[in-house]
This record gives sequence, structure tokens and C-alpha cells, in this order.
Amino acid sequence: MKRILLLGGVTEALALARRLGPEHVYSLAGLGKVPDDLACQVRVGGYGGAQGLARFIAEEGIGLLVDATHPYAAQMSRNGAAAAEMAGIACWALRRPGWQAGPEDDWRNVADWAELIVALKDFCRPFFTLGREPLEHLHEIPPQQHWAVRCLQGQPAGARYEVIGARGPFSLDGERELFSRLQSDVLISKNSGSQSTEPKLQVARELGLPVLILKRPELPAVAREFDSVEGLWQALATYLETP
Ligand code: NAP
Repeated sequence: MKRILLLGGVTEALALARRLGPEHVYSLAGLGKVPDDLACQVRVGGYGGAQGLARFIAEEGIGLLVDATHPYAAQMSRNGAAAAEMAGIACWALRRPGWQAGPEDDWRNVADWAELIVALKDFCRPFFTLGREPLEHLHEIPPQQHWAVRCLQGQPAGARYEVIGARGPFSLDGERELFSRLQSDVLISKNSGSQSTEPKLQVARELGLPVLILKRPELPAVAREFDSVEGLWQALATYLETP
């Protein structure tokens, strides 16, 4: 019996997990929503690094590792590639292409948090859509700034910040309303390439707002890379059918 271990955490991974039978395992860190309506097994929580993951692969008789984590979940991608090598199985990855700036966009790349803070210094009302990282820096907000931070879990507002708890997909109309309420003068985003969070870029374009984009992390080389769920699914179907 061929068993697949699918490392998830994004919408496309869930779409793949929905097609897997009961012998396969869908693995989640446990930060987001855990689906309870899948035919495959769902495993929640970390493995204790690459070695722990390699042990799990060996003990569970996993034959193929599929990395469908978020493009910024680089630690897990590195662990996956290393663990597959240690366990002597192949690692395939879904590597979602990034968004591309158009002629009307004012996108500015930043390498890391330190560069981002420097790039933000002339703005007053930044809107962060990077996940939880800004929450660690709420005590460092410069006096001229008010921050809006959107992440999975909201929390009470402070004098100079608001934390919005929300989960995509986000609609274009909803994003227009939000930008109008927040009066943001700059958007901060990862380049996730996800359709479900793309409308914010359209609104920034309409309003002529700059977008500070956090650089994508380097990801490890793997045996096969796919840029679409369909392409990956077809290869998985072939893998499962081949004796
Ligand atoms: P990360 O920094 O690459 O990973 C941190 C640790 O979380 C890993 O070392 C691993 O723990 C555990 N982990 C991550 N993904 C896992 C999975 N699919 N199954 C089991 N354990 C997992 O990841 P992150 O950026 O914190 O993201 C955590 C999860 O949220 C990922 O699955 C990712 O796909 C999803 N996500 C991330 C982002 C983002 O912007 N980073 C956005 C949307 C969704 P051990 O070392 O103990 O195994």
C-alpha cells in the first residue's frame, strides 16, 4: 500500500487532502482551522524537527512526502526535504508562483523586518497583512504611526494599533470597505501568490497606495516541483496507480 504524507497549511493543500483516501495522512501545524470532514487521516502538530519527521515517515511506512505548505513556511519545507532524504523517500512540492506587479503598481521589496521598518518611516497608517509578526513589535510603534494588523486571531485595540482577526478568502468589496475605514496609506504583504488574499492588491492599486512586499524565503530543492494543484494531483494519481 502506498501512503502519502501531505504537509499542508494552505487552501490548495486542503483541496488535495480532500481527494486522498483513508490510508494517507494530511499534516497540519495546528495554527489554523483543522478540517473534520476528510476521508484521509489528519495529524495535527509538529514532529520535533527534521529527525522527528524522518522517524514518523519510517514508522508509518510513508512512501512519498508532499510539501504543500505556505511559500513562507520555509522551516517546514527545509525539514520536509531533509527528512525525506534521511528516510530515503522522494519529496515533491507545490510551489505557488508569486504575484507580479503591473504597470500601475507601486511595489517595494523589503528583505526583512528591519528593512521594512526603515521603509515605513514616512507613513502614518500602515496596514500589515503578514500574519502575527507585527504583534511582537506593537511596543515599538513610532509616535506618528497608527498600525492596523490583520492576522488569524484578533485582540483588543491599543491607543496606536488595531488588531483585526480574519481568515481569507477576502472579497474585493470587503477589502475596499476595510481600506476606506482604516484610511491606510501603505499596505504591507508577503508575496504569497494566493488568489484568496489578492483583492487587497487590487484595492491598493485603485487607491494608488504603495505596497511593501516581504521577500520570499529560499526553499530547498526537491525531486519534483509543481506550480498547480491539478498538475500535482495528476502526478499523484499516476504515482498511486503505478504498481
Ligand atoms: P514554519 O516556520 O516553516 O514551521 C515552524 C514549525 O511548525 C515546523 O518546524 C514544524 O514543527 C511545524 N509545522 C509547520 N508546518 C507543519 C505541518 N504542515 N505539519 C506539521 N507541523 C508543521 O511554518 P510557519 O510559517 O510557522 O507556518 C505554520 C503553518 O501555517 C504551515 O503549515 C504553513 O503552511 C501555514 N501557513 C503559514 C503562513 C505563513 O505566512 N508563514 C501563512 C498561511 C499558512 P516541527 O519542527 O516540530 O515539526
